[in-house]
Amino acid sequence: MFRNQAQPLVTAPAETAVLSLLLAEGPLSRVELARRTGLSSTAITKAARPLIDDGYLHELAPERTAPGAGRPVNPLAITPDREFFVGVKISDDRLFGVVCDLRARVRATAGRPLADHQPESVGALLAELVDELLDSAPAFRDRTRHLGIAVSGDVDRGGGRVRFSGRLGWRDVPLAEMVTASTGLAVTVENDVKALTIAEHWFGEGVGTGYFALVTIGAGIGSALVVNGQLVTGAHGVAGEMGHISVDPAGPRCRCGSVGCVEAIASSGAILEAVRRGTGLGGLAFEEAVEMARDGDPVAREAFARAGRAIGVGIATLVNLIGPERVVVSGEGAGTYDLFGQHIKDAYAAHTFGAAGTCPLSLRPLPWEEWARGAAAVAVQALFP
Ligand SMILES: [Zn+2]
Repeated sequence: MFRNQAQPLVTAPAETAVLSLLLAEGPLSRVELARRTGLSSTAITKAARPLIDDGYLHELAPERTAPGAGRPVNPLAITPDREFFVGVKISDDRLFGVVCDLRARVRATAGRPLADHQPESVGALLAELVDELLDSAPAFRDRTRHLGIAVSGDVDRGGGRVRFSGRLGWRDVPLAEMVTASTGLAVTVENDVKALTIAEHWFGEGVGTGYFALVTIGAGIGSALVVNGQLVTGAHGVAGEMGHISVDPAGPRCRCGSVGCVEAIASSGAILEAVRRGTGLGGLAFEEAVEMARDGDPVAREAFARAGRAIGVGIATLVNLIGPERVVVSGEGAGTYDLFGQHIKDAYAAHTFGAAGTCPLSLRPLPWEEWARGAAAVAVQALFP
């Protein structure tokens, strides 16, 4: 099995706790770090020392916590430029790449159109893209060891393999091994929705939440869950997949083989299929179906309404299971939220149980670069054991 060559930066639990808190929340004093981690101040000082020596942390200028308060404290902060991380999202027709710093701020972007989905040609383009990104500043070339790649489908993160990606037509592709050989970087491959969720949980809407869910709508319906502050991977690397919850046993067949999955009703392809079938207009494009719905065509409107209900029931199911503090709805389907947003909200409200239903849904349209940033956030995680 493929293993990353780069060693984790931190190994001891105290160092891991200090680095992860500072990454997610910004500068904190040693006293605050001790309070938050339950460790002693001595243990915090000991854990921070090697990270300061290596240039990952620095001390900010002393500040008094309150007028007349005792000794001033020097908060500890991440040094964002100490190391850079490349993230690449492989979409259906394009590679989106970013260089991020330690705080997952995007410092450079680049892209490549995909001519086909052959793993070898995608891998070659990916290596080219990484080269371009690293050449955009000398510091990137000098201080980048890790690359994260986000792919749709069933991904074996530990083994660096894409087990199955319906969108790319891939089965058992050893992507990490291929790209490590061509770039020399330590590569982590993750499911794209999980990668986006990691970024949103660490650096976006989900910061500070212990229970959090992200749902993406569009060509596919994806979701990922954070429970107790950790991304849920499940025993098999597949967990929290709302898209394949069956919400209608009499519904259409899904490409996964099951019947009535949320994705089989609510993906943009499924909506288009329903409009084509209902209107007899076999050559209709998705944008035309959207226009018809906006113009009030009853068949098109009902296809979006049904999709919205399926998504709402799916999200309610997730919320009833894990009780998140917040659910973020994103993905390219956010662009048609005017057509099914109310149906999502109504079905969600009707199917959530008790207090779990107080969890707000926030719509957050995220550009493709954010998905690449998610891949870079996965690469940042490689610093941890
Ligand atoms: Zn399915």
